[in-house]
Amino acid sequence: MKLPRFDIDLDKHYKATVVIACPQCSHQTRQHLASLAPDQPLRCSCGADISMPGSALAAARQQADAIKAAYHVR
Ligand SMILES: [Zn+2]
Repeated sequence: MKLPRFDIDLDKHYKATVVIACPQCSHQTRQHLASLAPDQPLRCSCGADISMPGSALAAARQQADAIKAAYHVR
């Protein structure tokens, strides 16, 4: 299974947000990291499957922790 490409962002409340890039149409979907579960079905507006497998979610959490550390928020 191909891993979706994603970026981590903090919103104005310092909540970690995952920005998932659709492999089909490059549309970006934003989801709060806390609301994502491994292999939870997630669809782009074009219908492509952009769900995050557990390994991608673990990587996303690590990145979010690193960003929060950089911003000195916990
Ligand atoms: Zn799409």
